[in-house]
Amino acid sequence: MTDALVVLRPVRELDQRERLFYRRYFNSEAFTARFVGSDGIAWLRPWNLSGLRIPRPDKATLHALSELTSAARQFSLWSHEAEHAVHSYFKWDNVAVARSHMIDAGRLTRQRREAGSLIDARDSRLRTTLPFPLATRWRAVQAAPYDHSAYTLVLECAEAVLAYCAVLGLVLARADGLPLGPLRQQANRFAKGGSGPTFGTWGTIVSYFATAKPFRGLPADSPLVHFAGLARPEVSEAIAANKRRRDHNAHRRRPSPHETRSAVEDAKNDLLILLEAVEWLVDFPLRHIERSRWDTFEKLSHLSFRELMGDHNVVPLHDGTVDHIIEADSPYAVDQFGRYHLLRPFFVSLPCDKCGQLTVFVIDAWDPTTETATYLALDHAHTIELANQRGTLEQVGLLPPPTVP
Ligand SMILES: [Zn+2]
Repeated sequence: MTDALVVLRPVRELDQRERLFYRRYFNSEAFTARFVGSDGIAWLRPWNLSGLRIPRPDKATLHALSELTSAARQFSLWSHEAEHAVHSYFKWDNVAVARSHMIDAGRLTRQRREAGSLIDARDSRLRTTLPFPLATRWRAVQAAPYDHSAYTLVLECAEAVLAYCAVLGLVLARADGLPLGPLRQQANRFAKGGSGPTFGTWGTIVSYFATAKPFRGLPADSPLVHFAGLARPEVSEAIAANKRRRDHNAHRRRPSPHETRSAVEDAKNDLLILLEAVEWLVDFPLRHIERSRWDTFEKLSHLSFRELMGDHNVVPLHDGTVDHIIEADSPYAVDQFGRYHLLRPFFVSLPCDKCGQLTVFVIDAWDPTTETATYLALDHAHTIELANQRGTLEQVGLLPPPTVP
């Protein structure tokens, strides 16, 4: 039946990920459904092919597809190991030995299941998967007793979440040439020696990305589409409620002692609504780059980085390559397509010079006289100062553009 065989040859050499893409596409129902005859069998004939429009994958699609298939392969490998542990039980003559062997062999499987079920439980999932500064603040909230310190911790956590999202939005919008909206007002405040960004400032920026016209109708795979979820009424009300609490707290209008417990519970519920609305942050790993070496001929940056996701900052170094220039000693967010987005100078990442912890600091104040920027740790109360930042802040819109003499 040689006439039943159609051989497809690529017109150019395909790499492994492209071969995977086309193999999956030609096997998909979307492709075969249109050739199903009355006998229920899909018949593909050469003349069917000539008029077909075949999808051409871009780099981002290939990256996402290869991540997903490699995760699926890993799950299947784990499932195979678990099955093997069960079968091995029957290979032993001595029941006690067999039992102990199965328990040993299955231990890793049980640990994997425990780790997996932690991801399903909301509170621990947020603690283990969110970017480090937010995960750490959330852990502190979880561990705190229901007193006034917990109330402050909840509100500080909510502010850090908004600051984190606002900065990510600013960086992503800037990369796509989109407007940065309310950042201009903060730049003007800085220029006059005024205050740094507050809960309100970050909230306004986040709300701009969630609702402003240029951000509606973005392509479905734009990382910025996630902000729309923050405009849902229950989320914007939760943000507004915690902003009110923050303002009152700052003006010493705190809940009285007998109201504290319920005030903490209400604030914490509103924080959880916000955290659940930003769980997509797990798709944008925060990475502190320790070393980077650009190879001009390979056109690749060879990186060593620490992935700051979850509530630990003492994490191993990973190696990687990326096809654009990456600077060392800075924080980056990586999008779902593997592109690195520099978060400096909104954020800087370095070991805190007061406590030694590697963390992310957010721009907090600007002194136009000494031209010094003050950064506040996103996860604790220490600050650092950086000199000679004017040019950098001007370039990203944190200061107004220089006036031409
Ligand atoms: Zn510190």
